[in-house]
Amino acid sequence: MDPLVRATLSVQRALPAAAGPALSLMLGAYLVCRACGSTVPVLDAMVGALAVGSLGFQLVRRLRRAYGSVRDDFVLFSHVVLLSYAVVLEAPGGLEGPYYPAVYAVMMLAAGFSSPAVAVATVAFSVLLEAAVAFVAFRQADHSRLLPHAVLIGVFTFLNLALFRAEIARIRQLSRTRIEQELQRMREAARSYRLLGAPSSALEPRSVRPGSDEDRLVQSGVDEIHTALRLALELLRQSLHLRSAVLMWLGRSGERLHVQEAATTEEGLLPGPFGARDGLAGAAIAQGEAVSLVGPRAMKHVPYYSVPPLVGAVCAVPVVEHGNVRGVLVVDREARDPFTSHEEELLRAATRFALRAIENERVFSQLERAKLEQGKLYRAVEALSSSTTETQVIEACVSSAREFATFDYAVVTLFDRSAGEHEICAVSGEDAGALVGQRFRHNSGLVSMVVANRHALPYRGDYDPARQVVFTRRLAPPPMESLLVLPLVVHDRVLGTLILGSHRRHAFSDAVRPTLEVLASHVAVSLSNARMLKRLEDLATTDGLTGVLNKRALIEQAERKLKSAQRYGRPMAVLVCDIDLFKRVNDTYGHDVGDLVIKGVGELLRRIKRDTDIVGRFGGEEFVIVCEETDSAGGALLAERVRSELEATTFATEMGPLKVTCSVGVAPAPGAGNTWEPVFKATDEALYASKRNGRNRVTVWSSKSTQHGAAA
Ligand code: GH3
Ligand code: MG
Ligand code: MG
Repeated sequence: MDPLVRATLSVQRALPAAAGPALSLMLGAYLVCRACGSTVPVLDAMVGALAVGSLGFQLVRRLRRAYGSVRDDFVLFSHVVLLSYAVVLEAPGGLEGPYYPAVYAVMMLAAGFSSPAVAVATVAFSVLLEAAVAFVAFRQADHSRLLPHAVLIGVFTFLNLALFRAEIARIRQLSRTRIEQELQRMREAARSYRLLGAPSSALEPRSVRPGSDEDRLVQSGVDEIHTALRLALELLRQSLHLRSAVLMWLGRSGERLHVQEAATTEEGLLPGPFGARDGLAGAAIAQGEAVSLVGPRAMKHVPYYSVPPLVGAVCAVPVVEHGNVRGVLVVDREARDPFTSHEEELLRAATRFALRAIENERVFSQLERAKLEQGKLYRAVEALSSSTTETQVIEACVSSAREFATFDYAVVTLFDRSAGEHEICAVSGEDAGALVGQRFRHNSGLVSMVVANRHALPYRGDYDPARQVVFTRRLAPPPMESLLVLPLVVHDRVLGTLILGSHRRHAFSDAVRPTLEVLASHVAVSLSNARMLKRLEDLATTDGLTGVLNKRALIEQAERKLKSAQRYGRPMAVLVCDIDLFKRVNDTYGHDVGDLVIKGVGELLRRIKRDTDIVGRFGGEEFVIVCEETDSAGGALLAERVRSELEATTFATEMGPLKVTCSVGVAPAPGAGNTWEPVFKATDEALYASKRNGRNRVTVWSSKSTQHGAAA
């Protein structure tokens, strides 16, 4: 871009941004001039209107946004500071007058409603403005008033700032705690209704991440049950003229009752826990049938009132699910009317309704959960099938596994059956760099056992790092509380393992293991496909006899390299190497020995070339090397090395030792051309010159002639 255009653009961009602060400075300068005494009423009115208009504009803009930028907030508060100083200077007494505290009030606003950076900038602006007014307008070189003002402004602002921040932090903490409590309550309810899978241990409840799909599922389940139970209890309360209808649930130990839902006319019911063996509720639970009481004794059997009202009759009906008591429904009323058998039947129907509502939600949430899992699995399989290389499959495997389980560490090992070794191919998490690429022999460690038996280990996920070896005794993953080694199996063949580790205990419970095993089998299929693809690609691009590139692949790659060399102005060299009098080798020693020699030359070329060079067989006993960043002198050096090393090589054959030589032609790019055709033609010409001049020599193509070869 033209520097002038660039400068204009940056000025255009900077101008609107600088307009606000510039206006504040100009208004400040005007205020200082005005304080000198020279006032023109018309100008005053115009500047005043400009200041108020600008302030209004800034204020409206700021109120429309949730967060203002530091610059915008500074412009707004500096305008307010200017206005307050204008008022103070106009008022009797000026800076020492009774209206000066208005400035402190402005600072309080700035501290309360903006960021610390804006508050500091506003304080600085205010102090500088006051200093300018004092020194320029009143010619006071005396610090006695300015200093206390500046100190007070600073102290006032920073105290406000600190107080506001502390208050905001407190409120945030409070709401965080409230949300956490609410979530906890919801999870407890979900657990008691068995919407949530049972925790794998009492110490480690199965985690429900706030905001996750699982969390939403649980929340909606709990809400649905709550609404259904509430409605049922309310209907009971009204139709049976009850004061309260309270559904209490047994805790995990079966010893305590907690109020789960209630419909009541009383304020502040006690939530429990109450003893599950006490009173009427205890009797109903013990007998497994409805128990009721009338008269003064009834009062003692109602545990949930903080201030017991008059109770005339009470009835408790156990809530029985598949033969197990889950809780008890306790109802009471003021009237001393005993509960009739018809009413008791209604209460029993209500408990059945409650259980059905819970069961419905349980089934529904199981279905929803299965749907969610299937969706995740579908996405994982999609990601795996679109991965075409081993690296892509391993990456997709680790990221998909994160959808189903939380882990801190993942490793993929592959088993090299022919070598009887395992290789650590990828590590995600701790110690990633140190383990990748390490190989270890098949042994009695977990990885080897999983490969041998095609079953996930440790059994049931019980992992003991002190006792169990994962790779080898010397080569171990970082210490983890939980570990799972899954086999990657395709058609009964184990390709390797997927290892997941977590710092949490019981991280890979029965709830996640089956899904992870399914995922591992998909990973294995994708891995085997990627390997197959790689093999096909290799077959299509390499020469079967020598393992170097075949003609088509070499030309394709050479054309790409020539294009990029031309774009970046870098030199290249192409070499053609042809074995001398090879027909004779075939005729004397036979084709098999001929093949052996061709293979040997291929190996020699592969060994000599640099990593960035490519080598290919061009049919027969002719090879091509394409060298990047190499001019004709560099090409000639490499060619000479090839020639001399082959000359020094002896091939051992059944018919005794055999030596061959080769001729080489070298052509530079761009000297001989920029595309494959002319460059290859030039190397061919140079090779022909080598042959013509007696073989076993190197010839470098030049535009004048190809006759000057380097003889052996
Ligand atoms: P020159 O020095 O002029 O190159 O003589 P030459 O005999 O090597 O001639 P040319 O390069 O034309 O010979 C190619 C011979 O290589 C022809 C063929 O018999 C032999 N050949 C081609 N492909 C193969 C192969 O795959 N295996 C074997 N053993 N020989 C091959
Ligand atoms: Mg030949
Ligand atoms: Mg040939």
